[in-house]
Amino acid sequence: MNPLLEISFRVPFDQIQAAQVEPAIDELLADAARRLNETIASPEPLHALDTMTERLEYAMNVVRHLESVATTPELRAAFNAVQPKVSAFYSSIPLNEDLWKAIQRYASTAEARSLTGAMKRFLTKTIDSFKRHGADLPAEGKARLKEIDVALTEVTTKFSENVLDSTNAFELLIDDEKQLTGLPPAAVDAARASAESKGKTGWRFTLHGPSYIALMTYLDDAAIRQDVWHAYNTRATAEPHDSRPLLAKILELRQEKARLLGFHDFADLVLDDRMAHTGDTAQKFLDDLRVLTEPRFREENAALESFAGRKLEPWDVGYWAEKQRAALYDFDEEELRPYFSLQNVVNGMFEIFGRIFGIRVEEETGVPAWDPAVKCYAIRDTATGATLGSFYSDWFPRENKRGGAWMDSLLTGNPTARNPAERRPHLGLICGNLTPPVDGKPALLTHREAETIFHEFGHLLHHLLSRVEVRSLAGTSVPWDFVELPSQIMENWCWERESLDLFARHWQTGERVPEELFQKMKRAKTFRAANMQMRQLGFGIVDLALHRQWDGQTNVVKYAREILAPFAAAPLPGDYAMIAGFTHLFSSPVGYGAGYYSYKWAEVLDADAFTRFRQEGVFSAAVGRDFRDKILARGDSEDPAVLFRSFMGRDPDPNALLERFGLL
Ligand SMILES: [Zn+2]
Repeated sequence: MNPLLEISFRVPFDQIQAAQVEPAIDELLADAARRLNETIASPEPLHALDTMTERLEYAMNVVRHLESVATTPELRAAFNAVQPKVSAFYSSIPLNEDLWKAIQRYASTAEARSLTGAMKRFLTKTIDSFKRHGADLPAEGKARLKEIDVALTEVTTKFSENVLDSTNAFELLIDDEKQLTGLPPAAVDAARASAESKGKTGWRFTLHGPSYIALMTYLDDAAIRQDVWHAYNTRATAEPHDSRPLLAKILELRQEKARLLGFHDFADLVLDDRMAHTGDTAQKFLDDLRVLTEPRFREENAALESFAGRKLEPWDVGYWAEKQRAALYDFDEEELRPYFSLQNVVNGMFEIFGRIFGIRVEEETGVPAWDPAVKCYAIRDTATGATLGSFYSDWFPRENKRGGAWMDSLLTGNPTARNPAERRPHLGLICGNLTPPVDGKPALLTHREAETIFHEFGHLLHHLLSRVEVRSLAGTSVPWDFVELPSQIMENWCWERESLDLFARHWQTGERVPEELFQKMKRAKTFRAANMQMRQLGFGIVDLALHRQWDGQTNVVKYAREILAPFAAAPLPGDYAMIAGFTHLFSSPVGYGAGYYSYKWAEVLDADAFTRFRQEGVFSAAVGRDFRDKILARGDSEDPAVLFRSFMGRDPDPNALLERFGLL
């Protein structure tokens, strides 16, 4: 029996073989196609639509997960073989004309019109989504939409290749050790290793993150910094990797697509089903935040220039800011590590959120997993004793595991269904690549790593505390300008003295973080915060301007440069072309296009929502209950703006974010 064919709460991770993947997925695709036909034939297609891909989804979740945490060449090949078939199946659903007719037929019935709550929302969202995929267009409109989508895929793929190729085309070789002055030893070693890997002598620098950032932050030689900064900010502007003509093409295609589908512009199309809803709302949000940030931004830049004793160029800013930071705060993040042993952080976190949200986390033993380092836990409701779900945690790097930290869901249950026969627990997981234990000491984390654990646990609770009867709207399946609220808000408990004292204890002495160190850590957080915020706001504003206001004629690079200039700490030179390398916006048909504002949007939500805990108590079970019932339990069963309002009693207020960064 192929274990991928049957949904099992205790996933037999130790039995799944790469050779089982293709036959299982082929069978499940056939099963899903059969169910799709049943859905079309059903007088009430909504419920069937919600569950028709459940088995396929489970198997793909398990396979994708194993490929991320315990990959082998065979497993990767099997995953790559099924992935295109599966995504082709999913993207065919909103284009299925018979299904569209079945949904419309149902929508016109008295039964559909009397729907309430999550089912009503599911119907509306399904209809809107079909329309956004062109379901209502006449034949020629559908054909044109298809052409646009194909063209967008081609042009954005080319854009992304150009950025990568032009990034890789650059290298700086330094032969004279004296020119390396200022760089930390780790950066020098990395540059030496990079040269050796290319069979060259000396030190090699590139435009990739770690190398570029180290040069801009530490290298004393301003002329070299200028050359490298210039190379970075003119990437993809020369043959054979010139992306400038592609920018205009992408913007035109996106605009045409939006108009074809009945929207004013691409921002309105993309934001239609997000919390912001319209480009106008996103724009106002960024403009307001800009006004509030600008005074402090100017102060910071004046202070930096007076510290440097000279007028600064763009390639000087990072360098002098680092010197200023070191002079103002002699704060070494490494000093905090002994207070953040993994064990203490995790247990303290369970204790804190157990109290706040009325849950109990208990380790489960003897559960099959993919690696001996994995732990499994159950989450129960403290009041009723009901099991809400289980989750795995896998925190350390391995060669067969991908990088980064993430949360994922394996099964979407319904642990509190009205009908006891339908009650099923949720299953999820959280993974990371944290500092592993060395020299017989426990794993000692940075403060940022502790925040990462809290962050992923927030996503996990959004999944495990979900009480939504419609699977498609449960847990973390929310608009992406809302999805980071439950995760980011949890990070706040890593910054409050009261909660920190519960888990940040010296691993040998049990002492709390000394007050002086705690204050330093808080001060360092607000250093040049207005500059960081202006940078994000500039990207968000240029993104919306390009997708809402660009006239189709003006040179895109020049247009973007003029918009970005007031957000930069130093005057931008005439050939500044950062936009030609902005892969977030242009390396896929949608990507972050018209959505860059989401970063700040989510930060405003989390900072603002946390003020209720600040005011009513960081351990307040009453506020916790409210957050659990009105946000965590609700998934996408209601408009996120309504959910937020039901928790806060009003719309989001940016003041809390300004206060967090000392900008008030
Ligand atoms: Zn996240």
